Amino acid sequence: MKRLSLIIPCYNEALSLPVLVRELEDTLAQIPDIEYEILFVDDGSSDDSLEVIETLAAAHPFVRYISFSRNFGKESAIVAGFEHVGGDYVAVMDADMQDPPKLLPAMLKAVTDEGYECAGARRVNRKGEPPIRSFFARLFYCVINMISDVNLVDGARDYKLLSRKVVDALLRMPEYNRFSKGMYEWIGFRTKWIEYENVERVAGESKWSFWKLFKYSLEAVFSFSTVPLSLAFVMGLAFLLGSLAMIVFLILREYLYHVSAYGWTSLVCLILFVCGVQLFCLGIIGQYLAKTYLEVKRRPHYIVEKQNLRQ
Ligand code: UDP
Ligand code: MG
Repeated sequence: MKRLSLIIPCYNEALSLPVLVRELEDTLAQIPDIEYEILFVDDGSSDDSLEVIETLAAAHPFVRYISFSRNFGKESAIVAGFEHVGGDYVAVMDADMQDPPKLLPAMLKAVTDEGYECAGARRVNRKGEPPIRSFFARLFYCVINMISDVNLVDGARDYKLLSRKVVDALLRMPEYNRFSKGMYEWIGFRTKWIEYENVERVAGESKWSFWKLFKYSLEAVFSFSTVPLSLAFVMGLAFLLGSLAMIVFLILREYLYHVSAYGWTSLVCLILFVCGVQLFCLGIIGQYLAKTYLEVKRRPHYIVEKQNLRQ
């Protein structure tokens, strides 16, 4: 019998977890010939999530968990999941029911019967989301697809069902700065997108503030594109050539017509502008340097404090 492993990162999701397990049990019971396990990755929750998970694990033999020593972020929780599950198929889903369990049978069918290696859920709308957030999300997809090789699908969730091949490919990417939406695209494989209407979370609140999302989108840019570096180069070159042309022009004008510009306002403006451009370019280089610094340290993605994997 084939095995399906579900990886569920949880950060302060105590209220959602029992609802989720109930719904998953109902849904998975309808799929014939499949054995399943649920791996909760408690990402250093400060509420009762771990206690709730332990209670669920005591009541259900298919519930496993890993609990981190602190909050390491969802991406690290997903890595931990991939490293600890043994299923022939692996699904990753959120704990808050925003990734509807009822899509699982169709996702599994795509991978088992329809020749896909990966099935992903895609929101067809962003109902319930503040319009300003949707606007910036659309802008982000537009920019990232323009400046990187990967083609990110707007509305694609991190809700995925993967074959073992895909999981093994992802495990071969040990990078520290992880942007999983880009990584799924980067490894390739045929993906079936299953569309659904946006669902609001069942309890608690989103951990993604606007600022966190902004940082996450920069992560995407700096992890999957080197265009900003080329931009710094092109801007630097344009300013260099422009200033050389200006110097030649000023020398000629002084030599031929004996008129020099005495105004300093324009000069100050120019200096400030060029300084700004230089700092901006340095900042871009700094971003890549900072990422490289984190990569070369080779720190683990997470530290486990408690788990029930070897029971
Ligand atoms: N999550 C996590 N670590 C974090 C933040 C979030 O494991 O530091 C989990 C969270 O418990 C949920 C999933 O990642 O299962 C998605 O988080 P959230 O619902 O806050 O994101 P949104 O749906 O608003 O994008
Ligand atoms: Mg959510």
